[in-house]
Amino acid sequence: MSKYWSPSVRELTPYVPGEQPRERMIKLNTNENPYPPAPGVEQVLREFPADHLRRYPDPESWGLRCALAANYNVEANQVFVGNGSDEVLAFAFQAFFRQERPLSIPAITYSFYPVYCRLYGIDYRTLALGDEWQVPLEALDADSGGIIFANPNAPIGHSHSRDAIEKLLERVTECVVVIDEAYVDFGGETATPLVNRYPNLLITNTFSKSRSLAGLRLGFAIGSPELIEGLERVKNSFNSYPIDCIAHDAGIAALEDEQYFETCRSRIIATRDDTRRQLQQLGFDVLPSQANFLLVRHPHHEADQLFLALRDRGILVRHFNTEALQDFMRISIGTDDEMAHLVETLSELTR
Ligand SMILES: *Cc1c(COP(=O)(O)O)cnc(C)c1O
Repeated sequence: MSKYWSPSVRELTPYVPGEQPRERMIKLNTNENPYPPAPGVEQVLREFPADHLRRYPDPESWGLRCALAANYNVEANQVFVGNGSDEVLAFAFQAFFRQERPLSIPAITYSFYPVYCRLYGIDYRTLALGDEWQVPLEALDADSGGIIFANPNAPIGHSHSRDAIEKLLERVTECVVVIDEAYVDFGGETATPLVNRYPNLLITNTFSKSRSLAGLRLGFAIGSPELIEGLERVKNSFNSYPIDCIAHDAGIAALEDEQYFETCRSRIIATRDDTRRQLQQLGFDVLPSQANFLLVRHPHHEADQLFLALRDRGILVRHFNTEALQDFMRISIGTDDEMAHLVETLSELTR
């Protein structure tokens, strides 16, 4: 605590990201992709003319927005890009959720959302998950100041169908509904086709997980032109150039290679489903997941102890120290070799 801090900064509870270890470990703690980005990305990095860095990037990131628009079958004025989807989300909270009425969020979801609420002084209410650990769509209040959840949800992995999302949107028309689709490419169903019919729907997504580019920092949102303009108003009051020239070109290259994308994501899906079965054989309770992670607990072993024992053996997973999640570990899906090593180690630890 410093006397130099603004009063509001003294009240903040910042988000704590998963650890990035300095030593070499099997890293299954931040849902990164175990495979390298598309080969075209490496070519961009190798061939990028350093002289271009003299100039500021295009403040509108037009080329990348057009590539995303083509990919998702929308217009470029329905696409917003940011420095990671965390930045896009921060702008969305600022642009849409500073309302009289409280924001509605599920009790368990991406833990950054309450952090943004505190940053912007947004009141929020939380809704308990359903019996199958699902986001309780029917309990989300049409009178809210806004609604946000991840689909597939983090760190659970449960995913709602587009039809279920559409039922929500038929009912909730007076506030913005943000659906964070960071994990949708691992088996969820995107709600993007609904943006043309529901002007209050904003979908956010990221290049960090399914495109293997967490280190590049690229996220995006898709919605109606009026929502995108709202995001641009915030962005242009904060930083004109969130996307650097290299990230811009590398992002386009990542989108171009559809075959590589399909190969990587189907490999991860297959590895996830194998790992799920193997962990169940060890006695773990494994929640169904449409994401690139599994949330698991063992009836006879404490999650925090298993987390530490794995860490000692060079395997990093995630343990959340909250009442709702303390019995669980979240395990990101790595390569088949990494997962075989994990399963073998857990088999020794739970024997
Ligand atoms: C990883 C993640 C993000 C953040 O992604 P970045 O684009 O790397 O900032 C956003 N939402 C959820 C649910 C995530 O898991």
